[in-house]
Amino acid sequence: MGIIMDGKKVAEKTYEDLEVRINKLKENNIIPMLAVVIVGNDEASQVYVRNKAKMCEKLQIGSKVIECEENISEKELEKIIKDLNNDQNIHGILIQAPLPKHLDSLKIFDIVSKEKDVDGFNIYNVGALSLNKEGFIPCTVKGIIKILEYYNINVTSKNIVIIGRSNIVGKPLANYLINHNATVTVCHSKTSNLSDITKQADILISATGTANLVKKDYVKKGAVVIDVGINRNNNKLCGDVNFEEVSEIASHITPVPGGVGPMTIAMLMENVLEAAEMQRK
Ligand code: NAP
Repeated sequence: MGIIMDGKKVAEKTYEDLEVRINKLKENNIIPMLAVVIVGNDEASQVYVRNKAKMCEKLQIGSKVIECEENISEKELEKIIKDLNNDQNIHGILIQAPLPKHLDSLKIFDIVSKEKDVDGFNIYNVGALSLNKEGFIPCTVKGIIKILEYYNINVTSKNIVIIGRSNIVGKPLANYLINHNATVTVCHSKTSNLSDITKQADILISATGTANLVKKDYVKKGAVVIDVGINRNNNKLCGDVNFEEVSEIASHITPVPGGVGPMTIAMLMENVLEAAEMQRK
């Protein structure tokens, strides 16, 4: 049985480190503050937003949730975001995805000022990551990297296969890993012979939202397996990876729940602090 990479434990360790930074800001009369904008009544999004606000409260970071009607116009939403950009007490802004279909997500993400874009989704920060320049890195990507670092897994020269090419996980993760000298292959739903490719991976990362996609015969013996997926199977939370089978042959594996999920929110908190520290300067 491989080592189970405990995202909750790594997140707790991160919060201890963040506390020192939060106290330092407070000594300078700065209370880091996150604004979350949510549009509509999507149940899962509401749970995610509540969890983010709860975590802010736990760390004694300020948070403000702005709830907008499902049918809000692009103009009205733009005004809300611009007001947040101009509010000096707000350090980080997050637009909860997914947005309703009548709104152009990329355009909306891009209204958030680059200094407050704690999700790392606006075009400046996407570009900065791809050019290996300083900017906000998406929280899930950072969370995955922190877990690997915690377990002393070096990515340099490793063969890394990512399943999933989304703008929020697969693509930014590939950019980060290429910048850190890994050899990266990105697969997606049109990839042929998926398991032939995944079997080559020293580190396999799945971010598809397809339960039970990665089975034992997709994984090389001794590989590190990171499961980003969040799926519901008979009302039970599970990832993309068949944990029971794959944990038998992987050297390390993240569980779902308790793997990447807790790290994503921890990295959001870290990005809010980074934003507050930067804006102080
Ligand atoms: P997404 O935008 O739907 O992208 C999914 C990607 O997976 C797409 O590139 C898709 O290919 C690919 N894919 C889907 N089914 C596949 C299959 N059977 N074989 C190969 N590739 C397949 O999703 P996302 O936002 O990246 O999220 C992915 C998963 O991670 C979801 O379960 C989400 O809930 C979870 N997630 C978790 C966290 C966390 O904190 N743990 C954070 C973010 C997301 P095409 O491009 O060809 O369609």
